[in-house]
Amino acid sequence: MAMKQPVADFLVVGAGVIGLATALELRRGGARVVVLEAGRVGRKASWAGGGLLFPLLPWDYPDTVTRLALYSLSLFPGWAEEWAAASGIDPECLESGLLLLPPYDEAKSLAWCRDRGIAAEPVSSRARAPGLADDGPGLWLPQVRQVRNPRLLQALRQSARHAGIEIIEQTPVTGWQTHGNRVAAALTATGALAAGKFVICAGAWSAALFSRLGAAPPITPVRGQMLLFKLEAGALSTMVVREQTYLIPRADGHLLAGSTLEHAGFDEAPTLAGRWDLLERAQALLPVLTEERLVNHWAGLRPGSPGNLPIIGPHPALSNLFINGGHFRYGVTMAPGSARLLASLALGQNCPLDPEPYRWRMAP
Ligand SMILES: Cc1cc2nc3c(=O)[nH]c(=O)nc-3n(C[C@H](O)[C@H](O)[C@H](O)COP(=O)(O)OP(=O)(O)OC[C@H]3O[C@@H](n4cnc5c(N)ncnc54)[C@H](O)[C@@H]3O)c2cc1C
Repeated sequence: MAMKQPVADFLVVGAGVIGLATALELRRGGARVVVLEAGRVGRKASWAGGGLLFPLLPWDYPDTVTRLALYSLSLFPGWAEEWAAASGIDPECLESGLLLLPPYDEAKSLAWCRDRGIAAEPVSSRARAPGLADDGPGLWLPQVRQVRNPRLLQALRQSARHAGIEIIEQTPVTGWQTHGNRVAAALTATGALAAGKFVICAGAWSAALFSRLGAAPPITPVRGQMLLFKLEAGALSTMVVREQTYLIPRADGHLLAGSTLEHAGFDEAPTLAGRWDLLERAQALLPVLTEERLVNHWAGLRPGSPGNLPIIGPHPALSNLFINGGHFRYGVTMAPGSARLLASLALGQNCPLDPEPYRWRMAP
């Protein structure tokens, strides 16, 4: 196979929210960047997700997970605004707040929020969100944001183009060429693409790409299904979470209900069982969510990782290969922070937070 001359300083594999955010941060650092995408830009997990910008019950996660999430959230409003301005596409990054319904540990959640300067207040749930089935106590987190993730992906794509990043679609990486402890080129059906450094951001498909280079990171697909309803605009003004069920109202009256957590391999098809399960759970929260209001149903594959801890940094053996992956349930939330961390490691700059917890360690 003919090897082309280096096309770029960095070749990023995968154009989901993590790949695009990473490409833009590398570009900001002055690098020439090419992105290779197996299908179309931003059509996998990053499109399928809900865009709730906060971990569900964050006080139940290890500090390493929430530290990255909170760092990323501190960047999010300015980051989203930057790409909205660069692209002319508004991703609707809105502070719509989050109402948490029982069961939850009130003392633990209030202490966690207080220690991190996050506003949280016990409220009566129906006073905060009229129309809910239950009128019990709730915890109101007014600063929690959402983003309309399909639009965010469009904004990132346009911004990348304007920044001079070349995005090559419908071109899966099928293998690698290596020389000693370096990757020389990514192999595709149309030829080999050489670059100075490589970053794999292939979401749920990342492990297969690495396994061709020896060890694979512990990233596995976890299917999540989602329902989309259409109500009148303003019918629900805040996001609502009860255990593993959440409602995310968009500004125009569309409302997302999620989600399921299923180990079904790489099968991305939504199921009837998933649809009825979600419909029942959504209706139990907000009775107006009837089947007549349902307008769409889909599934996506999350890049599942042990403990929801992403892997960000260099390959343990190949010196010019990096990974930014395994963000599991919070890849949209963690995108700006993870991209900044990866870019600082790959460009040899100071890290914005301690990279150690996210480093890929080979199993002994
Ligand atoms: C139902 C659901 C709800 C969710 N809700 C939320 C939420 O509310 N908030 C939140 O923060 N997160 C949420 N998530 C999680 C979030 O969507 C993911 O963590 C995030 O999208 C992962 O981004 P990614 O770029 O790593 O993966 P992806 O978006 O899957 O992108 C990976 C890309 O790599 C490409 N690729 C794969 N193999 C190759 C190859 N060989 N060559 C080239 N390209 C390749 C794929 O085609 C794909 O485009 C949700 C996910 C799901 C499924």
